[in-house]
Amino acid sequence: MKCRTCGSKAVINMRQHKLALCKPHFLEWLPAQTERFIKKYEMFTRYEKVLVAVSGGKDSLSLWNILIKLGYQADGIYISLGIGEEGGYSDLSRQLCEDFSLDRNQQLHIVDVKKEFGETIPQFAQRTRRGKNKACSVCGLTKRHVMNQVAQKFGYDVLVTGHNLDDEAAVLFGNTLHWAGEFMLRQAPVLPATPGLTRKGKPLCRFYEKEMAAYAILSDIDYIYEECPYSIGSTSIYYKHQMNLLEHDNPGEKSHFYLRFLRAKDNGLFAPPEIIKQDLHECSNCGQPTSGKDVCSFCRMLEQGNEHLERSQVN
Ligand code: SF4
Ligand code: ZN
Repeated sequence: MKCRTCGSKAVINMRQHKLALCKPHFLEWLPAQTERFIKKYEMFTRYEKVLVAVSGGKDSLSLWNILIKLGYQADGIYISLGIGEEGGYSDLSRQLCEDFSLDRNQQLHIVDVKKEFGETIPQFAQRTRRGKNKACSVCGLTKRHVMNQVAQKFGYDVLVTGHNLDDEAAVLFGNTLHWAGEFMLRQAPVLPATPGLTRKGKPLCRFYEKEMAAYAILSDIDYIYEECPYSIGSTSIYYKHQMNLLEHDNPGEKSHFYLRFLRAKDNGLFAPPEIIKQDLHECSNCGQPTSGKDVCSFCRMLEQGNEHLERSQVN
């Protein structure tokens, strides 16, 4: 297989794009495409302050690397979840993010969930009343809360995450199976800012997972290979597997599924855009926007935890 640009030996063959590239041309192509998506979906400009959520994984560290290379003002945020033993998943991923920021002389905000809110994600998950996939549900809620809090506090214009096409297609697949219309309305490459909520963007949403893995490896990015222990057996991994089966028989299927969804949404298939407004007000505890009655779901989760702690101290 030969590189389409220069004819030398290709290192990657992207069947879905009918494109094979050598290492130098692939490492040029991916950031250039990222730039194209940032502009196409009007995610942010070079004059704006970007906060990149990094987990230590290949996608988020690659995203940070690309944004720095493209000349954006991009700082990082790492949220220490307290998952795994000492020196395990959380400690290792934190170390990789710290090393990455030091090597490139970039600012990294670190928020330790236990220090900040009293308990780690596994501890919160143990006693929450949330349903299946408790750890992920508590974790998602916490990450959203903390990321927005830091973005608002330090005046970032946009918060970006490393979600790739496989992530987006799997979420869409799950939402379609359950006709979760409300979630589908909010799934987009960019979500504009609303009072109290920073704009969110996903610059990698059109890249396949294997393209991102190739980019991280070929760029010598030191990332955590280990998956979070709570991701094993999760529904999102099951949906990714199903999407991969479709993709295997029909290269490009995953991408079409996602892109046609975006187009259908733009054309008002789900609801005219003006209906998508939510009735939000400030949480009486933390002040972040919520659609809940009084306090936001994050603060409710913390309250549940405190009630539980008080009960167990009495008993
Ligand atoms: Fe959090 Fe679940 Fe992701 Fe682990 S797999 S980092 S618990 S959301
Ligand atoms: Zn709150």
